[in-house]
This record gives sequence, C-alpha cells and structure tokens, in this order.
Amino acid sequence: MRIVVTGGAGFLGSHLCDRLLAEGHEVIAIDNLITGSTDNIAHIRDKRFTFIQYDVTNYIYVEGPVDFVFHFASPASPIDYLELPIQTLKVGSLGTHKALGLAKYKKAGFLLASTSEVYGDPLINPQHEEYWGNVNPIGPRGVYDEAKRFAEAMTMAYHTFHKVETRIVRIFNTYGPRNRANDGRVVPTFINQAIRNEPITVFGKGQQTRSFCYVSDLIDGIYRLSRSSEHYPVNVGNPHEMTVLQFAEKIIELTGSSSKIIYKPLPQDDPTVRRPDISKAKKILDWEPKVNLEEGLKKTVEYFKLKMEREGR
Ligand code: UDP
Repeated sequence: MRIVVTGGAGFLGSHLCDRLLAEGHEVIAIDNLITGSTDNIAHIRDKRFTFIQYDVTNYIYVEGPVDFVFHFASPASPIDYLELPIQTLKVGSLGTHKALGLAKYKKAGFLLASTSEVYGDPLINPQHEEYWGNVNPIGPRGVYDEAKRFAEAMTMAYHTFHKVETRIVRIFNTYGPRNRANDGRVVPTFINQAIRNEPITVFGKGQQTRSFCYVSDLIDGIYRLSRSSEHYPVNVGNPHEMTVLQFAEKIIELTGSSSKIIYKPLPQDDPTVRRPDISKAKKILDWEPKVNLEEGLKKTVEYFKLKMEREGR
C-alpha cells in the first residue's frame, strides 16, 4: 500500500513509519516539525520513504494514489499543548478535516490517533470505550482534549456521510525511545532526572495513577486496528496501573540513581486516575501488550543514556 502518515517525524508517527516500511508498504511522512524532529526518521534509508515538511492544517496535496492515511500530527504533551494551544486546536480540527478530505478524495482508509484525554478526569476506572468522559473545555488541557473529541466527531461524520473507511484509536500513556527528553512528560522527565542524579519532581502527592505502554506494543495494536473493520473507537494501552510516586520509586531503583523525590504543585485538571479497559482490543484485534514495564523502561533508559553521551551532556 501507499500510506500517508501525518506527524510522521514525531514519537509515535516515526515508530509507525518504521513498522509500515517493515510490513512492505510505501510511506509518505508529513510533519511541520514544531514538536517532531528529523532526528526521529534520520535512520530510515529506504527508497519507499518520503518526508515532506508541511503543516497539515492547510490543504494537503499528495501526488499519485494513496491507500491509507494515518493522522498522527499533534502536539501531545501537556507542556507542548500549553505552549501551542492554537496549533493544537487547529491540527485536531482543521488538520483532521484536511486529512479526512485527502482520504475521501483518494478513496483511502483513515485512522485517527485519538487519546485517553477524551475521558478527561474520568469518574470511572478503568475507562471503557462507551464512557463519555469528564472534560473541562476551558481548562488548560481543553485545547487538546476538545480538539481530539472534535476530531473523533469529524471522523465519524466522514464515515457516516462520505463512507470513508475510518478507524479511531484512543491512545493511553506511551513511552519508549524517541520520547523527547524535555517534553515534560513523566517518563522522559523522571528518567533524565534519575540519570543525572537530580531531584525527581513528583507533582501533587504523587497519588494520581497512570498506566504505561511500551511503544512497540502500542504500534502493534494500531497496525492491527488499521487492518480491522472497526469504525468505533478502540482503547490501546497497557492496563498495568500505578501511582506516579510508585513510578518515581521504580525509576530510581532501575537506574540505581541517588536522586531524591521532591514534590511540586499538581497542574490544573491533572487526571486523578487513568487505566485502559482493553477488553475490546483483546476481543476484536486479538491484541494485548507483551512488553512489561521493567523491560520497556530498560530500553528507554538505554536510549536516553546513549543520547546524552552522543550529545556530550
Ligand atoms: N508528572 C509528575 N512530574 C513530572 C511530570 C509529570 O509528577 O515531572 C505527573 C503528572 O502530574 C501526571 C503524570 O505524571 O499526573 C503523567 O503526566 P504526563 O505529563 O506524562 O502525561 P498525562 O498522563 O498527564 O497526559
């Protein structure tokens, strides 16, 4: 197949490009590089791979046939979308519209990268796909949450009214190599603090929970979803839930760091709990995560150590 990946130079987008190339597809990655980086795709030496630097909130023109569009472009860490609120809203709304328009015009399949953030600060735990969520539209995270909720609505409308073959994946916290060291997210932040023996910054009392999925597991779930016929949203993530404080302790133990834990204020609207109910993915995709936390974290710590050595920091 000839496949377009928006956000193809991002963390998840670049891993998806790797997987698609390994499956024998031709890939066109589009990214405006505001949070993505060509470092993430620099290793790809393949004639079937093309990179285009472009902002997909504008009309997307791709020459020749396209069989599938993966829409992965968006700032995705709380710090990024606080700094880029308008771009976040635009890529979720206008960008999704343009990417769907491309899929419709080319008679291609389409997969939207949605998020567990559509559940907001959830009032049920774990979160299943039928839950409508608890989102503050005008809070600091609203720009991301509402953009993705709009993106889901737009995707369903293109399916219903234009008969585009659409898929929606709700992605839960994912980590691994190519996470950005300074994107503010808990996994890269704690690992980098631990490697440098600097204080680990736990927000609030660290009693909020998250469930972390290793990137190769996530990409496998997404690839399977793209090949399925499910139009409704599917959660993909790892249900292994822990508190942020437990996670900080795990990182200290794994890295053998002398870092101490310090406490910082909890950001506004930080979800209290988060854990995916993955029964649907298990049933219809025959998928569940394979990489356990320790194994995944070791690979990620290795990646950051090497990166630091290379950059001499
Ligand atoms: N967090 C933390 N210290 C940090 C960064 C994040 O305690 O230096 C917490 C944050 O408040 C949240 C959790 O870790 O409860 C996960 O945050 P992240 O930014 O990775 O993503 P989120 O799941 O909130 O989208």
